[in-house]
Amino acid sequence: MKLLMGVICIATSLFLGGCEDQGSAPKSVTSAGLSANEKLTEHSKEFEAAVIQVTDNVHVAVGYGLANSILIEGEDGVIIVDTTESVAVAEAVKKEFDKITKKPVTAIIYTHNHVDHIMGSGVFAGDDNPDIYSYETTPHYIDKILQIIRPVIYKRSMRQFGSLLHDGDVLNAGIGPFLDSGPSTPVDLLRPTKTFSGNSTKLNIEGVNIELYFAPGETPDQIFVWLPDQKLLMPGDNFYRSFPNLYAIRGTAYRDVMDWASSIDKMRVLKPEYLVPSHTRPLQGADEIYRHLTDYRDAIQFVHDQTIRGMNMGFTLQQITERVKLPAHLASSPYLQEFYGRVDWSVRSIFSGYLGWFGGNATDLTPLDELGNAKRMVELAGGIDALRDKSQTALATKDYQWALKLADILLVLDKEDEGAQETRTVCLKELGAGEISATGRSYYLTQAAEMEGLKITEPDTTLVPERMLRSFPVAQYLNAMSVNLAAEDALDKDVTVGFEFTDTNEVFSIQIRRGVAIVKAEAAVNPQASVRTETYVWKEILAKRRNPALAFASGDVEVTGSVLDLLSFLSLFQPIENPS
Ligand SMILES: [Zn+2]
Repeated sequence: MKLLMGVICIATSLFLGGCEDQGSAPKSVTSAGLSANEKLTEHSKEFEAAVIQVTDNVHVAVGYGLANSILIEGEDGVIIVDTTESVAVAEAVKKEFDKITKKPVTAIIYTHNHVDHIMGSGVFAGDDNPDIYSYETTPHYIDKILQIIRPVIYKRSMRQFGSLLHDGDVLNAGIGPFLDSGPSTPVDLLRPTKTFSGNSTKLNIEGVNIELYFAPGETPDQIFVWLPDQKLLMPGDNFYRSFPNLYAIRGTAYRDVMDWASSIDKMRVLKPEYLVPSHTRPLQGADEIYRHLTDYRDAIQFVHDQTIRGMNMGFTLQQITERVKLPAHLASSPYLQEFYGRVDWSVRSIFSGYLGWFGGNATDLTPLDELGNAKRMVELAGGIDALRDKSQTALATKDYQWALKLADILLVLDKEDEGAQETRTVCLKELGAGEISATGRSYYLTQAAEMEGLKITEPDTTLVPERMLRSFPVAQYLNAMSVNLAAEDALDKDVTVGFEFTDTNEVFSIQIRRGVAIVKAEAAVNPQASVRTETYVWKEILAKRRNPALAFASGDVEVTGSVLDLLSFLSLFQPIENPS
């Protein structure tokens, strides 16, 4: 039976999201005259694995995975801020932290919901049963790991981080050495147990005064951590040694960039003596930190305001993208190099965040269809051979963007065109090699590898620990089913199935009504079939960890009504086959 899915699958790569250090750390590098590739290579020094002592009782592990993990030692226990992205990275960091102290973990703090901060938590917790702190909305965003667009975000995340590239192709990941993530990466997530609302909360954990501040920016649930007695700031992902990722090319909803700048203002007024970000190395010195925080928030506001100004003056998106550049005093900051986020991508995101997809020119309201456009381009070039020649000439003269564009047109006309395939592959590799943003570089190189046969496979759900699978609400799984309906096969269907979950006493109804599946958290009315089982059993079936037919036969899933109707109902949920 084809029980759809694409629904479940929890992988570490779903979401996603510096410092002059203590003595041994790299100093900022003079980048004048270096190529993009050389600059990005230099940037790797930022990620040499080290546990850096910041103050008597604060250490930060940098370079073990994409995100840092921070150790705060208290009287009889420790507090961990952020837990890295995987079991393997968390174990490597924990081994180092255990050399510093053997005290149990009393508390874990998540600065936000991104997987590179939360997926190693089970390793740090061990048997210590710590409290897990976050902002009140973080559990909601963790649930959205199973969001309806999970399959596409997963695939694009694999490209953004270059997770499937060969060693050596990924110089670094912009804000860390790499993201430890892939179809077979074990993760161990614990959900928050203590959340706060409003603007801030004050805690004393193991004798350490800790203040948590709501600071939306890179994510809407972002917080920063402040140790007032040491004037030590942990800004989460709202500050690191790269131009901020105001837009993530893996795909993201609009990030409110002015919220981000305002959150940095909240940090500036505290005048931190130490700054320990969740990516890149820590900083020390109140004046220097204040200067970098100021430049950072000014860069964000500059890009925002000048984009809006261009929009209001009637410039097109492309024109604004070409016009908005950081001024020299910001462009030269070591904290604003485009190793992760890029200014032009940010402009595009701000434009579409305010105005949506339509640029304003009526020409773009109803563009030519892909094939019609390609045929006209061939005619314009003087025939298909002439178009091929122009693509080859562009390639030979290293005009890679143009050669790629022409190759794409040729591939619309014939996706088996070997010359165009070769051109496209070479162009993607060359553009990747010349790209300063690590995410852009990895995206180019991964798509080149896909041209050469790489397949991005779905995550192995058998690696998800039972307690993690149990922790997600079953409603997330059912709600995600509707977007997998094969509407073309269901246009003549009107069938309702009821669900009753015996462990949570939840009921749901799913009605397929002529091409649409309507999911409701209420009892089904006159269902053709009903399912009665435990939430965990149903999740295991959706995760392909349990055979549904066997579950029906064994009685683990009780079916009332027509089993055939139920099987035919379930068979209608399947992803669209996309040969590309
Ligand atoms: Zn992060």
